[in-house]
Amino acid sequence: MYKAKAYAAPSQTSPLGSTNISRRDPTDQDVQIEILFCGICHSDLHQVRNEWKEVMPTVYPCVPGHEIVGRVTKVGAGVTKFKAGDLAAVGCMVDSDRTCPECQAGLEQFCPNFTLTYNFPDKHLGGVTYGGYSDSIVVDQRFVLHVPSNLNLAGAAPLLCAGITTYSPMRHWGVTKGQKVGIVGLGGLGHMGVKFAHALGAHVVVFSTSPNKKDDALRLGADEVVISKNADEMQKHAGSFHFILDAVSADHDINAYINLLRRDGNVVLVGAPEKPLAVSAFGLLMGRRSLSGSPIGGIPETQEMLDFCGKHNVTADVEVIPIQKVNEAYERLLKSDVKYRFSIDMASLKSE
Ligand SMILES: [Zn+2]
Ligand SMILES: [Zn+2]
Repeated sequence: MYKAKAYAAPSQTSPLGSTNISRRDPTDQDVQIEILFCGICHSDLHQVRNEWKEVMPTVYPCVPGHEIVGRVTKVGAGVTKFKAGDLAAVGCMVDSDRTCPECQAGLEQFCPNFTLTYNFPDKHLGGVTYGGYSDSIVVDQRFVLHVPSNLNLAGAAPLLCAGITTYSPMRHWGVTKGQKVGIVGLGGLGHMGVKFAHALGAHVVVFSTSPNKKDDALRLGADEVVISKNADEMQKHAGSFHFILDAVSADHDINAYINLLRRDGNVVLVGAPEKPLAVSAFGLLMGRRSLSGSPIGGIPETQEMLDFCGKHNVTADVEVIPIQKVNEAYERLLKSDVKYRFSIDMASLKSE
C-alpha cells in the first residue's frame, strides 16, 4: 500500500479539498498509472453531493473522476498489455466478474458485478474505490486502455466517459456514411456526438434551444442547426432521421424527436431526465420507430473508440483547469458554463 495525493469531498455539503488516500501496490495483473489529466463529468458532481442516494449512496471521503489519462509507472509481473512509460487511460469501470455472459461478450458495462471507478466497494483494500482526482491509480490491465500517441491528452480524457457514451450507441445502431443523424443538446456529451457522427460520415443536424450555439455546432462538424423551439423548422425534418442521440437531462418533449425519425429509426437517450418521459405510442407505431437508452460502453469498444479517435484525430473540446479550481468548475458546470468539458491538469496536485 502507498499514499497518493487526491482531491476529495469530506461530506455532501463540503467543497473538495486536498487529501492523501491509500492505493494498493500493483499485484501481478495491475498497472500503476501516474494520472496526467482527468475530465470532470456531471456524474462526479451528482456523486459528491449524494444526489443519487437511493441507488448509489456516497461514502465519504469521496474522490470522483472517471475520465482518466496518464502514463504507466509500474506493471505487475503478469502484465503483457502495458509497460512503464506507455500512455494509458481508465474510464468508468475498474473491474467486473469476467465470467458472466456480458463480460464474455465484452459488454462489461452490463455486468451485474462490475466495479465502478469511484464510490464502489474496493475488493482489494476494503472501503470504496477512489477515482481520478488523484496523482496515481492502480488498475487491472484488463480495464486499462491504450491512448493513441497523436491525441492531445487533456482533450483525450473526456473520451473515457463522454466519448464512449456517445460512440457506443452510434456503433450499436449502425450509424454510417450518408445517414441523417440528429444530436439533441450541445453539451459535454452532445459535442462528442457531433464529432463522432461527422467522423462516421453522417449528415449531422444539431438541435438546440439557443440560436447562439449555431456557429459552434457548425465548427464542431454539424451540417445543419435546428432551433428546437421553432415548430415550422422542426416540421421540415419530419420522418427523415435514421438516428437521433438525445443528450438532454432536463425535462423535454421526446415525441417531437420521435416524429422526426424515418421508418425503423431510433432515438437513443444518453441523458437522464429526472422525471419519466411521456411517450406517445402512436409516434412509435407509425414507422416502427424505437426509443432506447445506452450507458457508456464495454472495454473492447472503448479501445475501438480510442483507436477511432486516433485515426480521425477526435478529442473533446476542453477547458484545462488546475485541481484547485474544481469547486468553481462544479458551480460553472451547473450553469452549463463550459465549452465543453473541464479537464483537470493533475500536475497542479504536486503543489498541494
Ligand atoms: Zn461520466
Ligand atoms: Zn460480468
